[in-house]
Amino acid sequence: MELSSFSYFAWFGLKTILFRKKDPILGTVIVTDRCNLHCRHCSVNNITSVVHPYAQIREEMQTLYEMGVRILFFCGGETFLWKDGDRTLRDLVIEAKTMGFRIVNVVTNGTYPIDLPEADLILLSLDGDRERHNAIRGDTYDTILENIRNATADNICFYMAINQINKDTVEHVCRLARETANVRAVSFNFHTPYPDTTDLALSRQEKEECCAVISRMMREGAPVFNLKSAFPYLIDNSFPTPCHQCVVIENGKISTCGRCIDVPGLCEQCGYFFVAEYTLIFRGKPKILFEMLRTYPKYV
Ligand code: SF4
Ligand code: SF4
Repeated sequence: MELSSFSYFAWFGLKTILFRKKDPILGTVIVTDRCNLHCRHCSVNNITSVVHPYAQIREEMQTLYEMGVRILFFCGGETFLWKDGDRTLRDLVIEAKTMGFRIVNVVTNGTYPIDLPEADLILLSLDGDRERHNAIRGDTYDTILENIRNATADNICFYMAINQINKDTVEHVCRLARETANVRAVSFNFHTPYPDTTDLALSRQEKEECCAVISRMMREGAPVFNLKSAFPYLIDNSFPTPCHQCVVIENGKISTCGRCIDVPGLCEQCGYFFVAEYTLIFRGKPKILFEMLRTYPKYV
């Protein structure tokens, strides 16, 4: 991370903590909900299947920028399906950088060729070993690993949502992140139980066991892009929600934290590690702040 960006985020953090401000810093633009997959745990694919036009997405980016957002995510559906005329996802990333966003990340299922060196991080969903990943995401594991091998930059971060199907494969994904070229890190979430996927949720004890594995893998040098000091809050779901520093925009509608905010009762069962980490950082928890300062610059 550039020094100017680090100073910018440090000043933002200080203001937020001292004055208990609720301004956003991280924003997500949903470029489409169209997706080539139908993952077992997913509740957001192909509801409209609309690929939003370039002009609309550019306007949404501008809106987020004016709100103060400086960390931008492009999310789907599947982001690599986004196109408008000759424009592709790559053009959106370049446009975001030109507009002044300091960090621009993309979330993908990894089933399309990965040629996006301009992105700071490509969060690529890998949900376990071949057997468990394919049970959740269809027969895609080998295609994804092939695409990672052929990727044109080393900006990939595995993104694993831990659930009842894949909870025993956390170690596998940590090792793969450490050993695979072009992969910089792995970032975890627990399954957030939307009403149609409650059967995949983990119990408190299962979350504790997963966190113990992640902690051990961190000690063994696995590149985990999460904050260990937030684990107790994630295990107990005792972190504050929602995260006011995060916003999502989809087809012109802005939601605080996530588009899931409208699902009654979901925030109390939230499994998103970034929500725990951000809300605790901005509450000024010293241990978490210190770990963040050591961890984030390693991967972004
Ligand atoms: S790839 Fe993502 S958007 Fe598509 S079905 Fe899977 S989880 Fe949902
Ligand atoms: S806190 Fe609520 S709105 Fe935010 S990601 Fe979790 S479930 Fe979604």
